[in-house]
Amino acid sequence: MSIWYPYTQMQTLGKVPIVSKGKGSFLYFTDGTKAIDAISSWWACIHGYSYKPLNRVLKKQVDTFSHVMLGGLTHQPALQLAEKLVEITPKGLNHVFFSDSGSVAVEVALKMAIQYWSNQGNKDKVKLISCKNSYHGDTFKAMQLSDDSDFTVAFSHLLEKDFVVEIPENPDDYSQALQNFENLLITHSSTIAALIIEPIIQCAGGFKVYSPDYLDALNKLCFKYNVLTIYDEVATGFGRTGKLFGTNHAKRVPDIIVLGKGLTAGYIGHAATIASTKIYQQFKSKDHDKALMHGPTFMGNPLACVVALKSIEIFQKKDYLTKINNIENTIKQFFETIQSEEILDKRVLGAVGIIEVKNEKSVIGFKEFALKNQVFIRPIGKMVYLMPSYRIKKKELVKILVVMKRWFEK
Ligand SMILES: *Cc1c(COP(=O)(O)O)cnc(C)c1O
Repeated sequence: MSIWYPYTQMQTLGKVPIVSKGKGSFLYFTDGTKAIDAISSWWACIHGYSYKPLNRVLKKQVDTFSHVMLGGLTHQPALQLAEKLVEITPKGLNHVFFSDSGSVAVEVALKMAIQYWSNQGNKDKVKLISCKNSYHGDTFKAMQLSDDSDFTVAFSHLLEKDFVVEIPENPDDYSQALQNFENLLITHSSTIAALIIEPIIQCAGGFKVYSPDYLDALNKLCFKYNVLTIYDEVATGFGRTGKLFGTNHAKRVPDIIVLGKGLTAGYIGHAATIASTKIYQQFKSKDHDKALMHGPTFMGNPLACVVALKSIEIFQKKDYLTKINNIENTIKQFFETIQSEEILDKRVLGAVGIIEVKNEKSVIGFKEFALKNQVFIRPIGKMVYLMPSYRIKKKELVKILVVMKRWFEK
């Protein structure tokens, strides 16, 4: 086969549905069938497919200019999006660096964090703290900072971790984890550049939800021991957790935030790394070697920028947080009715619903079962989860939930 699919054992690959059209929450296939997309194409298509207001701004921009490099040139869509992102992200995050995917934006954040120290003459602070159950992308450093999993197993011999912090799920009982964390900082902070963490909910690495107070406590300790904080909001950003950003659930703001996925509503791959002024200042100098030496070819692509701007405008004007809240309530209510011996836990946060099973075997065949029932959904390991578009209709959402219920009650 000429095409090589992601995360796929090509030898045992079955038939892959061929999409001919997307509209709203629906994907249409060349064989005449259709399905509701329960996971909005890796959580990116937050307005669903082929949303007219987004299509319109893209068409207009294509006729103006589709791309121009951001090295030595600039343009209004990039300038405006940078300003908009500064305006809507938590206070203090003021400097936007664009890139073309979440993994790359994570790499940029790590380079910023390490160079922040080296620009001050400190070449010892190079290690990173990552979290149990984390996922930060598929490039090498991002893999190293992700928890061990199917995604990383082929390279485990190359991915030795610096330090790993526990993420206790019980919101009332994290004092031991916090003590361990402080002990780690007491002993090693002189060699540590930063902590990287997904705020409030960890996604592809295990879909664990944890307390904003714990996040704040980690942030506070990092501040105390001179370790930078990077919040990876690639999955949590743009409303997914019920607030505009996962960080908004907490009181403290990180030094660097990473955005991707929902940023461009699934139209074009794009991402952003946003740094506080404290970070940015350390790169300003007469010395060229102190500049940030990174520049993805497609950074600040104007098509990506105009679609992101329009997506954010609609999100705010049409009160998407209320839509997300309604999705959360519907999932919560329906999950109550799904009972099965095979289920270990059910979790709901914003427009994310997760059913974790005890044994991965319980979900073998689920994807095919769902597709037969006109729902596209793809479990990760023991997690059956939905992360629909925010414009999903109530009856479409219920349909997804009914299919999940029928699977577990079969
Ligand atoms: C998806 C994801 C990434 C990687 O983004 P890509 O655009 O796939 O490179 C990084 N961090 C988190 C939290 C993600 O969910």
